Amino acid sequence: MTDVRNQLADHLRFYADLGVTGVSTDERWRARGVSSSQLPASSGETPGATPKPSILDPRSSTLPPSPAEPAADFPPSPLRGFGGAGGEASESVIRVSRSAAEALAAIKTDIGPDCPRCKLATLGRKQVVFGVGNPNADLMFVGEAPGGDEDIQGIPFVGRAGQLLTRMIVAINLDRDQVYIANVIKCRPPGNRNPEPDEIATCEPFLFQQIAAIQPKVIVALGAFAAKTLLRTEESISRLRGRVFDYRGAKLIPTFHPSFLLRSPDRKRDAWEDLKMARALLTGPVTGAE
Ligand code: URA
Repeated sequence: MTDVRNQLADHLRFYADLGVTGVSTDERWRARGVSSSQLPASSGETPGATPKPSILDPRSSTLPPSPAEPAADFPPSPLRGFGGAGGEASESVIRVSRSAAEALAAIKTDIGPDCPRCKLATLGRKQVVFGVGNPNADLMFVGEAPGGDEDIQGIPFVGRAGQLLTRMIVAINLDRDQVYIANVIKCRPPGNRNPEPDEIATCEPFLFQQIAAIQPKVIVALGAFAAKTLLRTEESISRLRGRVFDYRGAKLIPTFHPSFLLRSPDRKRDAWEDLKMARALLTGPVTGAE
């Protein structure tokens, strides 16, 4: 009986994280989700990303089994980094019977184009930056917040740090269309300052919903904000990285944020180790997670 109660409590906590604030036996409450007919045609995802056998499925022959030849600047050699030039919730939307793409579209609709939920709406952000990539991705990257370039383009990780992230993805023999990329908060903080606790608290349910929709096998948390938000810990990213965590059916790998790597190229080797671990987890069974 205690087991059942614990399971129920876990279950309720999970849905609370997704932004579900209560339950009701009222039919109208249960029917309150966004119906498919209300969904927008586009969710900002990779075009044509209909459900299909996973490209990262170990049974698939489309990928080499492990990282092959190093990319031009990744992994970092002792002499050269992979940094390129210079070396360096309101209504909850839960995936029940929808496709991942539909679920993501519903979450995006729920956030809305002019989300007013936190103070970032009044602090100069140009647009909400939802997420990008394959809705059926096995590998998901979670960053911190959009910067200036992302704010202009409406796409995560397109600036300098984004270009480094792209090279990191390519280095494990994938490309951006095969993974999904999102941030903890969806709007640019003024001057690229750190996200504040109230902003994270307001926005994180949408990230949790994105993860629930995509159901990746592996999540790479880029930097302290992503790792701490997902793992509910205050441990530093230096202590968290190099470890594999169980996270709601996925393996979670914390690593350094690309912006940090641009400033501290000597840590790229650590990030490369983390990425190789992520790649290995996609293709083989894993043991030893915390
Ligand atoms: N840094 C982030 O954390 N996210 C972005 O989208 C861009 C830079």
